[in-house]
Amino acid sequence: SVYVDYAATTPFDKKILEEVVDNAENFGNPSSIHRIGKNAKADLQNYRRKIAECINAKPNEIILTSGATEANNLAIKGIAKGHANPHFITTDIEHASVRNTYQDLSEEYDVTFLSAKENGQIDAEELKNSLKDNTVLVSVMMVNNETGSMQPVFEIAEVLKAHGALFHVDAVQGFGHMDVDVENLGADLLTLSGHKIYGPKGIGLLYLKEGIKLSAQITGGSHELSRRAGTENIMWIQAFSLAMEKAKAHRSKRTIKEMQMKERFINELIEKKIPFEVNGDVNNQTSHIVNVYFDWTEAEFLLTALDMAGIFVSAGSACNAGTVQPSHVIRSMYDDEERALKSIRFSFSHLMAEEDITEIAAQLEIIYNRLNKREMI
Ligand code: PMP
Repeated sequence: SVYVDYAATTPFDKKILEEVVDNAENFGNPSSIHRIGKNAKADLQNYRRKIAECINAKPNEIILTSGATEANNLAIKGIAKGHANPHFITTDIEHASVRNTYQDLSEEYDVTFLSAKENGQIDAEELKNSLKDNTVLVSVMMVNNETGSMQPVFEIAEVLKAHGALFHVDAVQGFGHMDVDVENLGADLLTLSGHKIYGPKGIGLLYLKEGIKLSAQITGGSHELSRRAGTENIMWIQAFSLAMEKAKAHRSKRTIKEMQMKERFINELIEKKIPFEVNGDVNNQTSHIVNVYFDWTEAEFLLTALDMAGIFVSAGSACNAGTVQPSHVIRSMYDDEERALKSIRFSFSHLMAEEDITEIAAQLEIIYNRLNKREMI
């Protein structure tokens, strides 16, 4: 069988887990003032410093959370709370944790949702024209999780610098595949998640540029500089720091391998004469994701057939409670309901081998031939 759904989640690196287990004796509560607590606090400071360094931030700019969903909620609601009459700009193609949060806010506040073009990108010029005097926050993801399309975040950062609105970047699918440097990027807030980079699920962060005020969404003690209460998940924070360091150190090696897998996959589809179209501009996508439109079958059917054949893949985002719904991302790009129901995301890893791609293509060919009563070629 072949797992080809690494954008949904990655396996937890066992070497990292072992290192965390080895350090389990240092179990103290970092808020305790005795030596056991102080030892844990020293570890925590060390992990936070490493995490910050990976994105060129300062340790006090890192807010550790239960994942990117919480970090995105904190970013948006935390900024919204401090303003009387705010306007926000985001896109139709954000992850549910951003989109649904803005959907809720839009009942009370003015929110502009920008759609994507057929190349998978939103238009920075359109964004510029949507700015208002009271625009306080703009949320645009670095890489779309369904298509791999890279968004024009550098251009947007420039536009916003001139305007003064804050820039929130969901970089969950960018980190590990491209350089994520908050200074270079010009982000004011930025989100990352552990389980997309071979770390554990249930850990993530919000980068918040020094000096920006944010209202906590989880209140209690003064953890995370009073921006997110709760005893720190120190073991998972250690694992997150190790996963980030590893993802950064091995980025070029890993992305080359991912790209080889992606290119080989596309070439096999062509060779086997399986009709398909890549959604978005394949030349402007990350190495680990390709979204494919098969006009000859519904994604729901194909996913089930592939599952039975031992190929594990998704139609777009995994976050819709296990149901196959027309992808909001493909719909935004093409305004085509049928295309949105017939598209599938394949997402690759450096852990895969060429034989895995051969197997995926072979199973796709069997299903295609069966459906279309075509003989094997
Ligand atoms: N943003 C993007 C772009 C994602 O792909 C995901 C994970 N599907 C999230 C946010 C949510 O991350 P988490 O699972 O850590 O809550």
